[in-house]
Amino acid sequence: MPAPPRETSTRSEHSAGGVVLREGDDGTEVALAARRTRRGDLAWGLPKGLVEPGEGPEEAATREVREETGLEALIRSPLGDISYWYVWDGVRVRKRVTFFLMDAVGGDVSKHDDEMEEVRWFPLREGLRRASYTSERDVLRRAAESLGA
Ligand code: ATP
Repeated sequence: MPAPPRETSTRSEHSAGGVVLREGDDGTEVALAARRTRRGDLAWGLPKGLVEPGEGPEEAATREVREETGLEALIRSPLGDISYWYVWDGVRVRKRVTFFLMDAVGGDVSKHDDEMEEVRWFPLREGLRRASYTSERDVLRRAAESLGA
């Protein structure tokens, strides 16, 4: 008789991240970060990471943006949460990510984290097409709407 399926354990995580903007020569631009997926593809996404104990989501978003992209950015307004599931080491993880609209005020994308393959500025409309995850494209759409773009 086949072994019964093992009970899958689950846990939840809370991250925070930013839609970081700057004014370029041809309009508003957004910073996207590319990571190599386990399959070897390049996934373009918004900078984000875990809210550490003792931190608020605003602080975590500002820190993760600095660490992942090399940019100093200030929060303009909240953009709401997204959530998704992924599996890590046989554990199903439900991740909630709180996003903020942010303005770049310093730093440089050339100082990005080694974890990121590349960090680039895209015109907002192009960023919307290039972002790899549906939920992050929704966040970018909300950002564009809030700017009236
Ligand atoms: P950290 O928790 O420090 O930010 P991490 O790599 O563990 O880093 P995620 O970036 O959430 O955390 O990645 C975990 C998994 O979820 C990866 O397989 C990634 O491809 C996937 N993932 C990342 N962002 C999204 C998203 N917006 N929608 C769906 N899946 C995503």
